[in-house]
Amino acid sequence: MSTKPMRPPLPNKQQVKVDISKADTVACESCNNVLFISSTIIKRISPLMSPTGEEALIPIDVYSCGNCGKVPKTMLKGTGLEDKL
Ligand SMILES: [Zn+2]
Repeated sequence: MSTKPMRPPLPNKQQVKVDISKADTVACESCNNVLFISSTIIKRISPLMSPTGEEALIPIDVYSCGNCGKVPKTMLKGTGLEDKL
């Protein structure tokens, strides 16, 4: 008789409790507004750059200021649009 190896118990995921009232509020860099609208940047990968050889559209979710429309620079990292929005 063989005994099957016991599966190790899953480690308890530690729930980190965050007090949101003490967290920083992201405000618009231009007008200090704190309400943002979710928007999407879509990057088009040309067939020449694409690993599959086919054109690909890559959506990137960002938030834009609901007042002036500016997108915080931190959300634009790596998009190539850091200075354009
Ligand atoms: Zn703004």
